[in-house]
Amino acid sequence: MQGKKQVFLVLGFLLLFNLAAWQAVFYFHFSPKELEAVFFDVGQGDSIFIKTPQGHQILIDGGPDAGILEKLSQEMPFWDRDLDMVILTHLDKDHLFGILEVLKNYKVENIVWSGLGVESSSGFKEWEKIKEQEIKEGAKETIISAGEKIIAGQAVFSALYPFLEERREIKRNNEGCLVLKMLFKDNDFLFCADISFGEEEKITANFSDISAQVLKVAHHGSKYSTSESFLKRAAPQIAVIQSGKNSYGHPSEEVLTRLQKFDINTFRTDINGDIKIVANGYNLQIKK
Ligand SMILES: [Zn+2]
Repeated sequence: MQGKKQVFLVLGFLLLFNLAAWQAVFYFHFSPKELEAVFFDVGQGDSIFIKTPQGHQILIDGGPDAGILEKLSQEMPFWDRDLDMVILTHLDKDHLFGILEVLKNYKVENIVWSGLGVESSSGFKEWEKIKEQEIKEGAKETIISAGEKIIAGQAVFSALYPFLEERREIKRNNEGCLVLKMLFKDNDFLFCADISFGEEEKITANFSDISAQVLKVAHHGSKYSTSESFLKRAAPQIAVIQSGKNSYGHPSEEVLTRLQKFDINTFRTDINGDIKIVANGYNLQIKK
């Protein structure tokens, strides 16, 4: 990553001078202690940008179109064309199409996904083609299953779905959703992609602790997701719904009522726009 290389060079240069005096400046400028997660308003679709205190830049899903490029340019300096990790939760276009634009326009070090998709779905062939091109240019592809972890500095991502033993041909891309819990010190986030009740039940049956302070509500607030029992187990303080203009009735009244019932502080990209959550390892701060 360009940013990290630059930091390294700056440190090498400073060592020639008075290290003790400069260290404080270096630390102040280049070592933020906070992790940022930005839930972008990409219309009807998901896209979440995460920056770790170590400078890792991670994108989970890309929304439905090239609008993601504008969103990324708000969060990254113009000269930075590298992303450390792109995670695709599943191959539906409201998550995938923006990722295709990102792969065409950025150098991506790591591509992470569940490996499950419906081959006849729109975008599948292009995903395969563009992913292969990025791999030729040096990207590493990682397919993960429940129980596996990805470590990016102090941020640890644990996969909760899909299960290895359940891998089979799927009929809908949603069945192949990658669900992740991200832990940063005492702060935790649960990213539920577009799962439904069935996947939620399998997750709660297989993991004793799915609790998280922040819940990315499943499937744009669909009434067939985010059951009461799942909410009880996840027990979030904050819920984020990523949705926009749509004909499915997302987010549903049913889910909004369930969130209200558990007194969960709920934010919506269709109402609040981009939602930035700053985590210092203990507390969370929301910047709309
Ligand atoms: Zn979706």
